[in-house]
Amino acid sequence: MEEKYNYQAVGNVIKLEFGLKVLVVNNSKCFTAFVNQKIETTLDLKVITISSFKAAVALVEKSPDFFIAVAGLYLHDANEGEMVDYLLEKKIPVIVFTGKYDDATRDKILSRKVIDYVLKEDTHSIDYLITLIQRIQRNRNIKILVVDDSWAVRKLITGLLEVHQYQVLNADSGQKAMKVIKKNPDIKMMITDYNMPDMNGFDLTREVRRSYSKEELAIIGISAQGCNKLSARFIKNGANDFMTKPFLTEEFYCRVTQNIDIIEYINVIKDASNRDYLTGLYNRRYFFETGEKLYAHAQRNALTIVTAMLDIDFFKKINDSYGHQAGDLVLKRLALILQKRFRTTDIVARFGGEEFCIMVSNMKKKSTFKVFDALRQTIENTRINFEKQDIRISVSIGVCTLVGASLTEMVNKSDELLYQAKHGGRNQVCLVPQESSL
Ligand code: GH3
Ligand code: MG
Ligand code: MG
Repeated sequence: MEEKYNYQAVGNVIKLEFGLKVLVVNNSKCFTAFVNQKIETTLDLKVITISSFKAAVALVEKSPDFFIAVAGLYLHDANEGEMVDYLLEKKIPVIVFTGKYDDATRDKILSRKVIDYVLKEDTHSIDYLITLIQRIQRNRNIKILVVDDSWAVRKLITGLLEVHQYQVLNADSGQKAMKVIKKNPDIKMMITDYNMPDMNGFDLTREVRRSYSKEELAIIGISAQGCNKLSARFIKNGANDFMTKPFLTEEFYCRVTQNIDIIEYINVIKDASNRDYLTGLYNRRYFFETGEKLYAHAQRNALTIVTAMLDIDFFKKINDSYGHQAGDLVLKRLALILQKRFRTTDIVARFGGEEFCIMVSNMKKKSTFKVFDALRQTIENTRINFEKQDIRISVSIGVCTLVGASLTEMVNKSDELLYQAKHGGRNQVCLVPQESSL
C-alpha cells in the first residue's frame, strides 16, 4: 500500500482545495460524459453536467456554488450565448467550449469576461481544458500586484486578472507598490507600467529585485506602443517579461500564465531538493539551513527551543525479519506520525537511515517531557500492517531543552541523550535538564 505524504506546509507550495464543484453545460451527451470523466479523475473535482439552458438556470438558482463552469456558446434552447451571460451574471467564472472558430466567434467570446475558449475538435483541447481548470484553481491563492498611475489601465488589468481568479492588489505609484509588497511578502507577480511620476518602472523593478529574485516574484513590464527599446531594457533591469500596450487578451493571459507556471515549477523543484525522497520529510541540509533562522528568531524573542533526536530501536532486525520493503514502510509510517504530532512551524527532518531530528520552538518547558513521551507511547502502540503481518516498533529519544551556543550544539547534546536512552534499555526518552529540575 502506497502512503500518501502529508507534506508539511511550506510557504511556496500551493495547497489545493478539494470538494470544489464544476458545471459543464453542453448539447452533446457523449462529449460531456468524456469531459466529466476526465475532470473528475484527473482533478478530484465534482462535476455536474447539464444539457440545456433551462435546466442549468434551474440548478444554479438553487445552488450557485460552482467554482467554475465549462459552457458552450450555442445550446438548443439558447443559441445567442445566453448561457455564458447568465453564468457570468451569477459570478461563476466560465470557460467557453466552441466547435466553431473564426474571428467573429472569437470576438463574440472575448467580448464577454470569460476565462478562455477551448476548441472542441482539437485533439489537445481536453488536456488544455484540464490544465486551465487546474491553473484557475491554484490562482485563487496567488497574489498579483498591478502598478500603474493610470486608473483606467489598472482597472483593465485588474479586471482581466480577476477573471482568472487571482487575488489582485493595486498601487498607483512605485513608492506605494513597495509598501504593498512589504505588507504582502507572498506576492508572486508584479505587472508594472514604465512611465510613472515618482519612480519609473525600471527603478521600481530594480528596487524589488533587492529583496526578491526572479524565481520568487515575477515582474512583467508594460510599455506603450512605439517604445520597443523600453521592452528589452525592462528585462535588463530585472523583469521576467514585458508587454506592449495595447495587447491582445490572449497574449496577456499567455504571458501571465507562463510566468506563474515557471515560478511554480521552480518552487516544486526547490521543495523536492529540501526533502527526503522516501518519507517526504525535510532533509538534514534543510534542517540546519532553516533551523538556524528559527533558532536566531527564537533567541531574539526569548522563546524556548527544543531539539530531539529519535532513532528506531533494533531497526536492523525489522529489515532482517520482514525485508527491506517492510523497513521502508515503517520509515514512511513513522514519518507520518511525526508530521501529525508537530506543528508546521516546527521542523521534522530525516537525518539519514532510521534517525530523525525535530526542532520545536515555543514549547512549554513543563510539558516537553510529556509531549515526547506521549509520542514514544503512540509509536510503541502503532501496528504497521505489512503483507498481513503487524509490525511493531519502538523508538529512543534524546531531548535537549537547554538553549546552547548554537543549534548544532543542541543537536549534538540531543544525540548524546539518545545514546543514553539506548544504553538505558531503549524505548525511552532522555531529557536534559531533568523534569524535576524544570
Ligand atoms: P539501535 O537500536 O541500536 O538503533 O539498533 P538498529 O538496528 O536500529 O541500528 P543500526 O544502526 O545497527 O541499524 C540501522 C539499520 O537501518 C541498518 C540499515 O540497513 C537500515 N536502514 C538505513 N536506511 C534504510 C532505509 O532507507 N530503508 C530500510 N529499509 N532500511 C534502512
Ligand atoms: Mg536504530
Ligand atoms: Mg541508527
